[in-house]
Amino acid sequence: MTAVLPAALPAGLSRMPAPTLQTIPDAVTANVVAIRSATASHIMAVVKADGYGHGAVAVARAAVDAGATWLGVTDAADATELRAASIDVPILAWLNPAGVDAVQVAMDRVDIGVGSVDELRRLVSDAWAPVRVHLHADTGMSRGGCSIDEWPELLRTARDARDRVEVVGIMGHLPRADEADPAANAAAVTRMRHVRDMALRAGLGPVIVHLAATAGALHDPATHFDMVRIGAGLVGIDPSGTTSLHGASRWTAAVVHSTRVNAGAAVGYAGAYVTRHATNLSVIGVGYADGIPRELSSEAGVEIGGRRHPIVGRVSMDQIVVDTGDRVVPHGTIATIFGPDGGEVPSAQDWARWAGTIPHTIVTGIGPRVRRSVA
Ligand SMILES: *Cc1c(COP(=O)(O)O)cnc(C)c1O
Repeated sequence: MTAVLPAALPAGLSRMPAPTLQTIPDAVTANVVAIRSATASHIMAVVKADGYGHGAVAVARAAVDAGATWLGVTDAADATELRAASIDVPILAWLNPAGVDAVQVAMDRVDIGVGSVDELRRLVSDAWAPVRVHLHADTGMSRGGCSIDEWPELLRTARDARDRVEVVGIMGHLPRADEADPAANAAAVTRMRHVRDMALRAGLGPVIVHLAATAGALHDPATHFDMVRIGAGLVGIDPSGTTSLHGASRWTAAVVHSTRVNAGAAVGYAGAYVTRHATNLSVIGVGYADGIPRELSSEAGVEIGGRRHPIVGRVSMDQIVVDTGDRVVPHGTIATIFGPDGGEVPSAQDWARWAGTIPHTIVTGIGPRVRRSVA
C-alpha cells in the first residue's frame, strides 16, 4: 500500500527551509546539571571548536547559567566573542595555535595555559600587563604539557617572573579520556598530585588544580581535584559511551526532490546501489561538504515523518538519496539527520557508529552551508 505524506508546502511555492543545525540550550543546561550531580568541583565549560560545532556563545551562556564557573577554549582569540556576549567568568586558553596576542589577552582577560619553559619565557617577554597562567604538566599523553624533567625549571621560571605572570592554576589531561575505568587514570592522578605538590613547595599558589574532562568527571572522582573541564558532555556526549546525556542539537534538511523508480534502478555515483523493488526515492540537499560522512554502513538513515529511512547509494558532495519504500514524500518535507529525540530519529552517536568514528567528529564536522539557529 502506498502512503502519501501530506504536502509540506503550499502549491507553487518553491522556497524551502534551508538545512539547519539548531542548538538546544536546555539540553546543555540539563547536561551541566548531570555533571554537577557527579562532582562538587568547579565546572569549566569547554567551548573550543565553536562549542563543538554548536555555537560557542550559545553553549557558554547555557553552561554558565546552569552553574559552570569557568570557560575553556584552545585559542585566546576565541575569548573575544565570549566577552562581546557579556560573559564574565574566567576564560582559559591552553593551546594558542596562532600565538598569544598580549594586548588581546589583557583586554579580554584570558588566562593562558603554558606547557614549557620556552613558552613561558616568550609570554613573559611579550606581556605588557601581568598575565594569569595555568602551568600545564604532561600527565601521560606526550601531547603538550611540560615533562616532569622540565617541571622544576618551569616552576623556577614562573617564580622569577612573578611581576609579569601570576600562576593561578596547574593543569594536566587524562590520556584515557574515553574510558569509564578509574584504574586507567591512576598514573595520571599520581603525577598530578606530584606536580601540584612541587608547585606548592616552590611557593606558587594558591592554585586551582584541574585534570579531568567529561569522562573523568562522570566516572572517576579521584580525578576531579578543584575543577573539571567539560566539553563533550555539554553537548550530550559521554566519551566512554556509558552515560546517556542530552543531545544538544538537531540537524534538519528538506527533501528537495522525490521520484519513483522501478526495480533495477542504479542510484547515485557508480551505481553503487541498485533497487531490488520498485520504490520511492527522496533526495536531501546535504552531502559530504556539509559533514555527512562519505563512508557509511548500510544501516545509515534519516527520519522523515516519524520513520527511519535508509540512505542508499554513494553520499555526494551536496546530496544524499533516501529510499522511502512505499511512502511518497513530497518535496519540502523535513528530514531529521540527527537529533536528541530517540526512537526513529538518529543520534550523533548513531552517525558515529555508522561512520566508524566518534560523535565528536560528527558534530564538529558540519559545514558552513548549514544554517545555524538556537532553540
Ligand atoms: C577538549 C579538552 C577538554 C574537554 O574534553 P571532553 O572530553 O570533550 O570533555 C578538556 N581539556 C582539554 C585540555 C581539552 O583539550
